Amino acid sequence: MTEQNGSAVNTLARKLVKDLVPYASARSSMSGGAVWLNANENALAPAYQLDGTFNRYPSCQPKAVINAYAAYAGVKSEQVLVSRGADEGIELLIRSFCEPNTDSITICPPTYGMYAISAQSHQTAVNKVLLLNSERLDLDGIFATNPKLVFICSPNNPTGDVIPHEQIIAVLEHFKNSALVVVDEAYIEFVPEASVAPLLNRYPHLVVLRTLSKAFGLAGLRCGFTLANPDVINALRKMIAPYPIAEPVAQIAAQALSAAGIAQMKQSVATINTLRSDFIKLASTLPGVLKVWPSNANYVLLQVADAADCVNALIDADILIRNQSSQLGLTQVVRVSIGSPDEMQRLTTAMQQYFLTNQQIKREHA
Ligand SMILES: *Cc1c(COP(=O)(O)O)cnc(C)c1O
Repeated sequence: MTEQNGSAVNTLARKLVKDLVPYASARSSMSGGAVWLNANENALAPAYQLDGTFNRYPSCQPKAVINAYAAYAGVKSEQVLVSRGADEGIELLIRSFCEPNTDSITICPPTYGMYAISAQSHQTAVNKVLLLNSERLDLDGIFATNPKLVFICSPNNPTGDVIPHEQIIAVLEHFKNSALVVVDEAYIEFVPEASVAPLLNRYPHLVVLRTLSKAFGLAGLRCGFTLANPDVINALRKMIAPYPIAEPVAQIAAQALSAAGIAQMKQSVATINTLRSDFIKLASTLPGVLKVWPSNANYVLLQVADAADCVNALIDADILIRNQSSQLGLTQVVRVSIGSPDEMQRLTTAMQQYFLTNQQIKREHA
């Protein structure tokens, strides 16, 4: 193709698409390295088997998966939608409930990036109400907005904080007849007692997002869940593609949600929570680490003097972590995902080397 043809195609794309800055995922923005601690994946992943042939179209909403997830989450099957990751759940909610160029969503930065990007690609305005002290909702600020959807991430990515139940209830009470309140529980398995799923029967406008990507160790599977009132689920089912869940995905998801699969997930959560506590203890002793956020998930946010320099120093040690300094409300922070025991050992050594050397240089200058 000549360059001219290429630019002709570019002029055909919608203005919106030309202006859109796509989500820079950890996988797309960094490559190489041996130790991947930049995407909040689970290094303690089990292996799965496939069986059968794949000549038939799959079920749109495979019953085995829906029923297993409903049982696991303690809700009814009519309250569950399965999708291509929680990311597709976010997109379906915006496409189903927000009128383009008219409605808005409210988000609470610093938080997960896909709410704003999905809204933008659907021509939906985004109200940004910063978290207070990067850990509590600014209720007055949220109540001053007039959205169709409010997104609350708990535990919040990248800070790791759980949003207090009474704050979520206050938001639910305020938006009773005007908006859906979406609580993103992508990391809830690391702190299951904090789930708001038990509130689903009390609040028909509550939506809970879940995923198999994090605690279940299946980020490559692309499988997530939306839990909500059956009316909300039915609206989303009208908008979802006819075959969103490939048959191999359905088979593996059903295995992951079996009693044995759930037991294995819980075991890996226990291991990761212990590794996280150990890492937080270590990080708190390092001279160049200015702040360690208390985490309820499989990652820890650290404030450092120079985030880019810290990320680059770890790349030299073959370790990838994520610079989160561009997040609204945060400066000079890096997010470290909790890996396997061996990976955490390598990380510890590399961080000690980096921060102790830094300190040495500072002392020489003093
Ligand atoms: C990882 C993540 C998601 C996306 O989950 P997928 O099921 O992999 O699409 C959604 N929300 C938050 C807060 C996440 O960290």
